[in-house]
Amino acid sequence: MSDKLLIEKTVPGREGCSLPEIDCPAPPLDMLFPSSLLREKSPSLPEMSESDVVRHFYNLAKKNYSIDEGMYPLGSCTMKYNPKVNEELSKLDGFTHIHPYQSIDSVQGALELIYELQHFLEEISGMDKITLQPAAGAHGEFTGVAIIRAYHEDRKDKKRTKMIVPDSAHGTNPASSAMNGFEVVEVKSDSDGLVDIEALKGLLGADVAGIMLTNPNTLGLFEKNIVRIAKLAHDAGALLYYDGANMNAILGYTRPGDMGFDIVHFNLHKTFSTPHGTGGPGSGPIGVKRDLIPFLPVPTVERSAEGKYFLNYDKPKSIGRVRSFYGNFIVLVKAYAYLLSVGKDNLKKISQMAVLNANYLMSLIKEHYRIPYDTICKHEFVATGKEYKKYGVKTLDIAKRLLDYGIHPPTIYFPLIVSEALMFEPTETESKESLEEYANILKRIAEEAKRKPELLKNAPSKTPVRRLNEVKAVRDMKLRW
Ligand SMILES: *Cc1c(COP(=O)(O)O)cnc(C)c1O
Repeated sequence: MSDKLLIEKTVPGREGCSLPEIDCPAPPLDMLFPSSLLREKSPSLPEMSESDVVRHFYNLAKKNYSIDEGMYPLGSCTMKYNPKVNEELSKLDGFTHIHPYQSIDSVQGALELIYELQHFLEEISGMDKITLQPAAGAHGEFTGVAIIRAYHEDRKDKKRTKMIVPDSAHGTNPASSAMNGFEVVEVKSDSDGLVDIEALKGLLGADVAGIMLTNPNTLGLFEKNIVRIAKLAHDAGALLYYDGANMNAILGYTRPGDMGFDIVHFNLHKTFSTPHGTGGPGSGPIGVKRDLIPFLPVPTVERSAEGKYFLNYDKPKSIGRVRSFYGNFIVLVKAYAYLLSVGKDNLKKISQMAVLNANYLMSLIKEHYRIPYDTICKHEFVATGKEYKKYGVKTLDIAKRLLDYGIHPPTIYFPLIVSEALMFEPTETESKESLEEYANILKRIAEEAKRKPELLKNAPSKTPVRRLNEVKAVRDMKLRW
């Protein structure tokens, strides 16, 4: 299999399709396009046959790994199966052939879909109003934290410069706080892996704008003191932000709005089954409680008393636009189709199966990979590979060895409060058999770590590329041929 680019494989004169000779005088090109837009010479495009092109892309795709190929228990990322019916529906001409500059009258159906999806998410989260504009989870966080800032500024409460974030938080939480100009203050976890209430009390004060929390947290543990935390936050004049990237454990059981949260973001590309893509397109809607509605980005999609959908730009306190038009519309179509096909009454089943699967996988592997916070988990759990350090094996080596078995590793080295962390989230869409197979491979690797650690240290040996220098890949990107 050659690693050449299409342009290197070109054979002058070779064609992918042949068109009949034109049988009428060809109009001069500058009659069709303004001459200022015409090229001086033809672009240098690869010249190839259809089969050359198909093989090129097929072979590239084979080097990749996806949820369609096997289990992908990437903790905190919710890599669940993407039902194909959603893909089919999102490809309907009525969705793909419309344009955001069309008249509002001609896109009532699309606006209805947006409006209804907003409504579903309002019900699921217990929030009063949703915007679907943000393009990813981190973008939703940025938008939500901007609203927290706007809320305090509007009340002329300018001393609130701090955002409290737990030490177990996803890295995007401190990042989106800092990007909004807040000073990030870390609150410690207690010995149960939950927010240390006494530490939190010590931090809360008239300079705190808000607290960002995930519940269940990134250890997969439910923050059982959440109602108390919400009261402490509100009594101190701070707002409570819910990182709802992964709602797989609570769907249909509880709602951030009922727990006392003021703002929430969702990841449609996690909980609501739309593909993650290769870094996009995603969708990170946010929802807010009533008092915060005036600050939402414009436009909001609304319905008039006569049942007509329209765009509302009349929001003088809005933080402005965070993205062009309505967000990633086709992603919204997929999430809408998913929610309709699951149905309100079945939301609970998603949580039940996600939690059951996580606990089953945990019970299968805990003898080999210690669980630092060993209790029933929610949709994910965190193990440690620390025990294998005495054989010279790191968690990174365990993850790389999984690749040799043709299977995707869990999230590693996160959350930061567990050393040599392995974070598993199997999701509800895995079968009992696939969980058992994954556990068996993990057991085999645990044995290898003790007997033949060099197998792990030299892994992966069967992948298209071996160990990459990940820092160099980021710092010294080669984006040009
Ligand atoms: C994935 C994730 C995010 C960020 O979502 P992106 O769409 O990747 O920007 C934020 N918080 C948590 C807990 C997550 O798992």
